[in-house]
Amino acid sequence: ERQKLKRLKTAHADTLDGTHIELHANIEMPHDLPEVKENGATGIGLFRSEFLFLNRDNLPDEEEQFNAYREVIEGMEGLPVTIRTFDLGADKQIKGAVRVASNPALGLRAIRLCLAEPQLFRTQLRALLRASAYGNLKILVPMLSGTAEINQTLQFIEGAKQSLANEGIAYDPNVQIGGMIEIPAAALALNVFIKKLDFLSIGTNDLIQYTLAIDRTDDEVAHLYDPLHPAVLQLLAHVIGSANKAGVPISVCGEMAGELAYTRLLLGLGLRQFSMHPAQLLGTKQRVLTTSLPEMTPLVQKILRADDPMKIRDLLDRLNTA
Ligand code: PEP
Ligand code: MG
Repeated sequence: ERQKLKRLKTAHADTLDGTHIELHANIEMPHDLPEVKENGATGIGLFRSEFLFLNRDNLPDEEEQFNAYREVIEGMEGLPVTIRTFDLGADKQIKGAVRVASNPALGLRAIRLCLAEPQLFRTQLRALLRASAYGNLKILVPMLSGTAEINQTLQFIEGAKQSLANEGIAYDPNVQIGGMIEIPAAALALNVFIKKLDFLSIGTNDLIQYTLAIDRTDDEVAHLYDPLHPAVLQLLAHVIGSANKAGVPISVCGEMAGELAYTRLLLGLGLRQFSMHPAQLLGTKQRVLTTSLPEMTPLVQKILRADDPMKIRDLLDRLNTA
């Protein structure tokens, strides 16, 4: 089976009706690149840059970060590389962090921490922008909740560009800036994201956690974590549909994107770009190759109208065996 999948490495991920689907990889470190290539990814959809900060006693400086980002960007040879600014706090604490929140998932994490630690953020943005001169970089910002954070983030990026320009250091002035949709408020107040950002990526791991109030790290409630909850499906349908309508590129980079049970559902919701663990890419491609979008759409519409969990699962089975 693995051998059969391997042959799909260079195949185009097109549905039976000829719609092209982008299948990108999630990575944690530059050394993940060989696996990305072996599995035929057409880009990096999520480089979780915070892994450069974990399991060590000091912080990576601008030069070290620049080298890591550049290595990935150059390694992908012109294909898009989406690097997420660091998402620390909550489940990913830096060693010796002084701040201990009583409820870390709702505390100072991700972009909130970046905006509260300007020096840390500026260093990363300068490293990213410098690396942008070496290929096709997109910068992705985690955990944005709304207008104020988007504006502040964009100001920080402008500031970092200005500082590089003043020093005569090269960067791509048109580097694309995207936001993760991980908070229900962001999904519901999507207009400002669509207006101010170049692309969006849905982090279903967090979006589900925050929508259902299920701590994703707490085993006691893990059984309640449900990607098929009607509220989650409505949010996904709204975000994907609105972004598509506005012509803003939208992907899903949470675990849901790499689970075969949800590939057709997401396709039927209008998703055309997925990002997942490299090991899931070829299986997903095989699923895409055997999917007819016009056949999926009516079933997915039925799923969106259903509210009984058994009925939703039943319809999903029909979708997946069609
Ligand atoms: C997510 O929340 O879905 C996501 C991709 O980010 P992380 O899992 O790193 O929080
Ligand atoms: Mg997340």
